[in-house]
Amino acid sequence: MRRRLIVGNWKMNGDRPALAELDGVIAAADAAPRVDVAICPPFTLIAPAVARCPRLWIGGQDCHAALSGPHTGAVSAGMLVEAGARLVIVGHSERRQELGETDADVCAKAEAALGQGLATIVCIGETEAQRNDGEQERAVARQLRGSLPGDTAGELVVAYEPIWAIGSGRIPTAADIGAMHAMIRATLIEMIGPTRAEAVRILYGGSVTAANAADLFAIPNVDGALVGGASLTAEAFVPIVSAAAQNGADAFLPG
Ligand code: PEP
Repeated sequence: MRRRLIVGNWKMNGDRPALAELDGVIAAADAAPRVDVAICPPFTLIAPAVARCPRLWIGGQDCHAALSGPHTGAVSAGMLVEAGARLVIVGHSERRQELGETDADVCAKAEAALGQGLATIVCIGETEAQRNDGEQERAVARQLRGSLPGDTAGELVVAYEPIWAIGSGRIPTAADIGAMHAMIRATLIEMIGPTRAEAVRILYGGSVTAANAADLFAIPNVDGALVGGASLTAEAFVPIVSAAAQNGADAFLPG
C-alpha cells in the first residue's frame, strides 16, 4: 500500500522563528499516522528543523550530483544526510528554468541522492504552452524518461507539477490530473517494472490549498502533494495534511 506523502517546499523562505510553525504541523502529523509529512526548508534550517521536530521528515530542496569537490555554493546528498535530512527534491521547475538544469542534470542528482539513501522527489511538469498545444503528456513522459536514473533502488517519488499551476492559483481539472498520473504510472511500469512502479508515490504539486486538497486526494494515483506557498504556515498546511489522512488511503492499494 502506498502511504500518503505530503511535502512542504519552503523555497527561499523562512528563518529560525518560522520553525515555530512546525509545532502545529507535528500535531497534525501525530493525528495522521498513515501519512508521511515532510518539510523542505532552506539548507540553513535543515539541522535546526530536525532538532526541533524529529517526528517530521525534513529534507533539502536540491543537491549536487557529486559527493564533494570544487562546486562553490553547492550541497551534496551526503551533506544533507549528515544534517539529518531524509529526503530531497530534485528537478524543481524553478531550478530547471532559473538555472537551466536539464533532465540529465536531474538524473545525475537523483542517482546521487538515492545512492545516499535519501527519499528522492523528482519533479516533472509541462509549460502552459505545451498544454495549450496538447503536448503535455508527451512532454512530461519525455522529462520522466530523461530524469530517472537507471538504478532507482531506494525510495523514489515523482512529483507532477504543471509549471503554469505553481503559485498561480490555477490547477488542472481532476480529469487532466488523473490522466497525467495514470500516464506517469504506466511509464514507470515500462521503465522499472510493475512491482517497483506500484510502490512509487506520485505527488501532485501546483497551487494545492486547504480548499482543493480533498478533491485532489480523491483522484486515483494521486498519492500526496508537493506544496509551496501553503506550506509556510501551520494554518494553511495542517488542513492539507488532515485531508490526506481522511481521504481513503486504502483506495490506493496497488494491484
Ligand atoms: C512548488 O513550487 O513546488 C509548488 C507546488 O508551489 P505552490 O504550491 O505555491 O504552487
